[in-house]
Amino acid sequence: METCYGKSVLQGIAIGKLYVIEKKESSWTKMTIADADGEVVRFQNAREEAIGQLDELYQEALEQVGEENAMIFDVHKMMLDDLDYLEGIENRIRTEMVNSEYAVTVTGEEFAAMFSSMDDEYMKARAADVLDISARLVRVLEGREEPSLHAREPVIILADDLSPSETIAMDKSKILAFVTKHGSANSHTAILARSLNIPSLVNTDVEITRDYHGKEAIVDGVTGSLFIEPDEETLEAKKKEQEEIRGREEKLKLLIGQENITKDGRRINLYANMGNVEDVQKVLESDAGGIGLFRSEFLYLGRDTFPEEEEQFQAYKEVASRMEGKKVIIRTLDIGADKKADYFQLDPEENPALGYRAIRICLTRQEIFRTQLRAIYRASAFGTVSIMFPMIISVKEIREIKEIVEDVKKELTDEGIAFGEVELGIMIETPAAALVSAELAKEVEFFSIGTNDLTQYTLAIDRQNQKLDPFYDSHHPAVLKLIEMTIQNGHKEGAWVGICGELAADDTLTETFIDMGLDELSVSPTYILKLRDRIRNIG
Ligand code: PEP
Ligand code: MG
Repeated sequence: METCYGKSVLQGIAIGKLYVIEKKESSWTKMTIADADGEVVRFQNAREEAIGQLDELYQEALEQVGEENAMIFDVHKMMLDDLDYLEGIENRIRTEMVNSEYAVTVTGEEFAAMFSSMDDEYMKARAADVLDISARLVRVLEGREEPSLHAREPVIILADDLSPSETIAMDKSKILAFVTKHGSANSHTAILARSLNIPSLVNTDVEITRDYHGKEAIVDGVTGSLFIEPDEETLEAKKKEQEEIRGREEKLKLLIGQENITKDGRRINLYANMGNVEDVQKVLESDAGGIGLFRSEFLYLGRDTFPEEEEQFQAYKEVASRMEGKKVIIRTLDIGADKKADYFQLDPEENPALGYRAIRICLTRQEIFRTQLRAIYRASAFGTVSIMFPMIISVKEIREIKEIVEDVKKELTDEGIAFGEVELGIMIETPAAALVSAELAKEVEFFSIGTNDLTQYTLAIDRQNQKLDPFYDSHHPAVLKLIEMTIQNGHKEGAWVGICGELAADDTLTETFIDMGLDELSVSPTYILKLRDRIRNIG
């Protein structure tokens, strides 16, 4: 038995045969051409063909994994419109009189090297995308097919790295798990794996060799291990563990419709976090009591223009109606930092996480904010809608927001447009907000603590930087003290308090939070029943 270790992207255990996907070397060679114009036309035709393929992949991904994950193919399409990239290729063809395959490969490698050298983890990950798109262009130029999976039974994919397009092109019913030698937990492939609910390891210390093809293996997403040709004892133990995990999942379903109440009678609301409108289906299936965080910025990402009021209204209305009266807390636009949309034309910043983001954009570019508020208020006539504002640091900001909200409501009333009662709250995700929460609580009806950013700003640790993972400790006493202080100050003024950051799903803290008097936990739909179970065993 051989044991390798990687970074687990999704917990769970998979047992099956390895299917090795080796990097296929392309067969092209550098050639001198005589007709540069003709070669540029050949390249442009390949580009058109690649755009067509990406359109098809986008549609496929949209059906299989939803809009948020399908967006990567739009990003690839955008790269095929990037003038620097295109001119880089065409200039190389003309000045060096070389074939398109060579020009595309070399230009792609240059761009990838540039992305890799950037400090920003998100931009680093784009290196894989530019290589992916360059490989696609070369495949089209050579008339080759996309690499694919031809397995008769479900298998564990073992690859050097997988591009999002390779992942999406595979038949998911044939995949038990993914293991890659490279890749980061923030990559789009990792995100896709998570949304497909497939156990996965990235950055694994394994050799990608044909010798492993067809060999029995176990992927243990709980410990981040890959066992190749496991011995009987390990196999039996892991089979048992797998059965236990499945059994636990089945048992949890019995909790659907049950209350979130401790043995000694303390109740807490369990709400779900969501990003895309399609996610509402998962929220309904999870039996969440409401939506505690609707990350509305997803409506603004992966597109070229601002979503108009009507489009936003339809999205919010659909979510509010489908939740049939259960609370839907829409967080206003939290763009900036790692969530970027070119059409906002935001200037590059030295410290984006400490920069122009979220409410700071909304208060300075009010036309964007007002459009969103109008859409949310209109949707409030179709369900129970609350609004919360991200990245707040002062009372002054809330007063300004409330003036804008009043203005928007007056405008709608004057236009004869109906809207409902809307509860207003803020996110507590800066140490400043937690420290002045006594004053902030007088201004709003609820607080929702964003522990992802609260940890980042309290500990001065960039949440995107994987190198700092060992230091990123959201159990740090400073973070827990700020949470407790926020709950106490909120309650003194009659504001309810919840947590919507990742820490809400950490069941080692559930009892602590309930003891602190927390009113709500908002988590990804997969954690709702697990937490309900935890709560019902407290006290
Ligand atoms: C948070 O910061 O904890 C939060 C929920 O917001 P986001 O993760 O979207 O920044
Ligand atoms: Mg946040």
